[in-house]
Amino acid sequence: MQRVVVVILDGLRRDFIDAIRTPHLAGFAAQATPFPEFRTAFPSTTRAVSASFATGCSPAQHTLQGNAVALLERGSLVPHDVGRPDFLAHKRAITGHALAVPTMAERLAPYGGAIVFNNVSPGAANAHDPDAYGHLYHRVLSRGPGGAAVSNPLRVTLDAEGDHAMTDRFIAEALTRRPALAVLWLGEPDHIQHEVPLGSPEHLAVLREADRNAGAVMAAVERQRAAGDDVLLIVGSDHGHETVNGFVDIEAKLIAAGMKDGPDSTDVLALSNGTASLIYLHPDQERRYSLLSDYLQSQRWVSAVVPREDLHTIGHAPHQGLAFAVSLRADVTTNEYGIPGCSLAAIPRWDKKPQLGCGQHGGLGAYEQSPVLMIEGAGFRGGVTRAEKAHIVDLAPTILRHLGVASAGMDGHALQT
Ligand SMILES: [Zn+2]
Repeated sequence: MQRVVVVILDGLRRDFIDAIRTPHLAGFAAQATPFPEFRTAFPSTTRAVSASFATGCSPAQHTLQGNAVALLERGSLVPHDVGRPDFLAHKRAITGHALAVPTMAERLAPYGGAIVFNNVSPGAANAHDPDAYGHLYHRVLSRGPGGAAVSNPLRVTLDAEGDHAMTDRFIAEALTRRPALAVLWLGEPDHIQHEVPLGSPEHLAVLREADRNAGAVMAAVERQRAAGDDVLLIVGSDHGHETVNGFVDIEAKLIAAGMKDGPDSTDVLALSNGTASLIYLHPDQERRYSLLSDYLQSQRWVSAVVPREDLHTIGHAPHQGLAFAVSLRADVTTNEYGIPGCSLAAIPRWDKKPQLGCGQHGGLGAYEQSPVLMIEGAGFRGGVTRAEKAHIVDLAPTILRHLGVASAGMDGHALQT
C-alpha cells in the first residue's frame, strides 16, 4: 500500500548536515533526493509554517499568518500568542474558521488517515489538524478524530530526551498502525538552538540526538518497505536559525516616533515573530499608513519592509488589519563558533526574550530561510540533487500525489518527476 512518512527536525539548517555532525542525515542525503533551494514560508516560524505544511497553502490562504498575530475583535485589534493550545479555537469563533482551507488530515480522513506526533508548541501542533480529523499526539494536546480522548496521550518533555521517547512511540505505534500519512515533528534542534550558541558543543550534542532519532525512523521505514509497503519518506525542517546580534523594541520605537499612542493602545500593533515583525493598523487609523510606511522604510534595523499592497509577494494578504511585514536586519557575519548568519530580533510580548548570541528565526535572512528537504521514494531519483526551487507548500501536494488523493486548491505543486 502507498504511505507517506515525514520527519521534521524543527529549526535545522541545511549547512549543519555533514558526516560528522549528522551521520544519519548525511547518509540519507546521499541516497535520497536533496533539494538545496528549498525555502519556507514567511514568517519563518513554526506555527505559520506548520499550517502551510498541513494545507499546501501560503499564509494568505490558510490565514494563520504568524507565531504572534492580531485579530479584529468587536472593532478592536487584539494581539494573540498563536502558541497557546486554545488559539485556533478562539480564531474559529472570531473569523469562522481555524484555517480557511482544508488540512491533509481532513483530506486524508477517508483514505487511511493521518497521525501526527509533535513536540513543539501546542499551537503549532494544533495547526496540523485544528478540526480534529486525525490523530494528534503532543505533550499537552493528544486526541483522536472528533477530539476523542486517546488511551495513551503523549507525555514527554520538550528536549532531546522527550524527542527520543516520542520517536520510540512513533515507530512502535504510528508506523505500525500504517496510516496514509505519519508525521514526526521533533522539537530539536530548534529548542536547544534558542538556548545556546549555534555550533557550540551543547548544540552539536543535541543535534546528534536529533540525527539519531531521524535515523531510527529511516531504519523503520526500510523494514516496512522490505515488508511490501510503498513508502514515500520525507525528511526536512521547517526553518533555519540565525544568531541574535541585537534586539529591537519596535512598539517602543513606534511610540517614540509618534506612530503609536502608547504601550496598551490598539491603533498600531507590532507583533514580534522572532527576527521578523507583523505590523497591524486599525482600520480607523488609516491616515497613519503612509507615515508608518515612510518611517519603517527609513530604519536601519530593518532589511525588508513589505507594505500591504505587496504582501502577496511573500504569500500574505492584509487580513485582520495586517499592514506591513518586516524582516529585521540580517547579515552573513559569523558567531564565535564560525557559524555564519546573524540577525536582530524583535522583543516579544509573550515568549521568552531571545538570548544574545543564541539562535532565533522568523525573517527572510539567508540562514533562517535555508531549511532541509530530502525525499526518497517513487518519483524521486536516489542520489540526484534537484536544483530547482521548492517551497514548504509543495510538500502537501507531493504527499497527496503519492497517496493518489486530489490536491485541488493548494498553492504548491507536487515535486515528483
Ligand atoms: Zn524556534
